[in-house]
Amino acid sequence: MTETNAAPVTGHSPNALAAVEAEIVRACKEARRDRASVTLIAVSKTFAADAIIPVIDAGQRVFGENRVQEAKGKWPALTSAYSGIALHLIGPLQSNKAKEAVALFDAIHSVDRPSICQALAKEIESQNRHPELFVQINIGEEPQKAGIAPGEADAFIASCRDSYGLTISGLMCIPPVDEPPAAHFALTAKIAERNGLKKLSMGMSADFATAIMLGATHVRVGSAIFGHR
Ligand SMILES: *Cc1c(COP(=O)(O)O)cnc(C)c1O
Repeated sequence: MTETNAAPVTGHSPNALAAVEAEIVRACKEARRDRASVTLIAVSKTFAADAIIPVIDAGQRVFGENRVQEAKGKWPALTSAYSGIALHLIGPLQSNKAKEAVALFDAIHSVDRPSICQALAKEIESQNRHPELFVQINIGEEPQKAGIAPGEADAFIASCRDSYGLTISGLMCIPPVDEPPAAHFALTAKIAERNGLKKLSMGMSADFATAIMLGATHVRVGSAIFGHR
């Protein structure tokens, strides 16, 4: 994917969504997987309700946001107006936002340090809400990126369970932008498998078909659906 300075495209999309859906169906067929084994998360970050509503109207119900504050501003009105919406937090989480995150999101893909585990455990208990949790792996070991190093993943996943009582469903990764993603997806899948985790959040607009071939259960697709940000 290339970065551009184009103005955000708003209010387009049913066709783009259909094209992404067709590509998911094709990749599932090639991987001999059931279409139902892959959840499409439409990443609506930076887009306002007027761009999101056509995608909801086209049938999409699972959406991803990367900022708690932004999601809190635009989603409550939409989730009360439309039934069956699920929201996934795919961006970094600060401990002081854990309360709002647990209240708003159905899944959190960015569990990546003990302080977040502690804050989530407290909120899950006090709110009695149980968002699905993914541990983020810094699969390319990039210094500027969030996530647990692959070599520390097994111990961290065990500590989520043993020290904080959290149920981890799977792993999330964002491969380095300048490298072919397949080896990173494969390593993420291997770490998940040896830890008994069934869900894999991997693949974005540029590489979701490859991710599906390598076992992704959740693909996070933004610009291919909503246009450039
Ligand atoms: C923005 C974002 C995406 C979607 O990226 P696209 O390339 O627009 O599909 C996926 N995952 C994360 C973590 C993101 O922040």
